[in-house]
Amino acid sequence: MNCFTYTRGAWSDGMALPQIGENEQHTEYLERVGFSPMPHRLGVEFGSEIQLFEAERGSSYFAVVQPMANATYDVHIPDFPSLMLFLKDFAAAFGTLDVQSQLQDLNDGMRKLFHAYHGHSLDQMCKQCDPDGYQKAQDAQTRFANSGRPGPRAGVFE
Ligand SMILES: [Zn+2]
Repeated sequence: MNCFTYTRGAWSDGMALPQIGENEQHTEYLERVGFSPMPHRLGVEFGSEIQLFEAERGSSYFAVVQPMANATYDVHIPDFPSLMLFLKDFAAAFGTLDVQSQLQDLNDGMRKLFHAYHGHSLDQMCKQCDPDGYQKAQDAQTRFANSGRPGPRAGVFE
């Protein structure tokens, strides 16, 4: 079993909680042993992620940690100081992944929007989005044309 307890910064194997049933879903199990079914998520859903559950009564916590995309590890965090240490030691790394994922989504959206407005990708330019760069490219093209060699047309739109 991939079950651990994290107490005040120290790891130990197993948990002082009832075992999960053979055909029991994680959410059913956590509700049965007294944890809120609504996790706080750190990281990327279906990727590297920590789901943190809080006990309905008392200050006890349960983390389902998925370091990569497949295996998950259950971690019982029996009190508040342990939770604080767990977050200090591990939450930042998973939180960074979440921010990275959101920035990627934002970047994808911006690239699509840019293409819709300009009719070309962010890697290219036109008179509107980069007037100086466009003028320099035009000048360079003229110089190359006058020199008899082929000009640098790639990446420039009219
Ligand atoms: Zn443009």
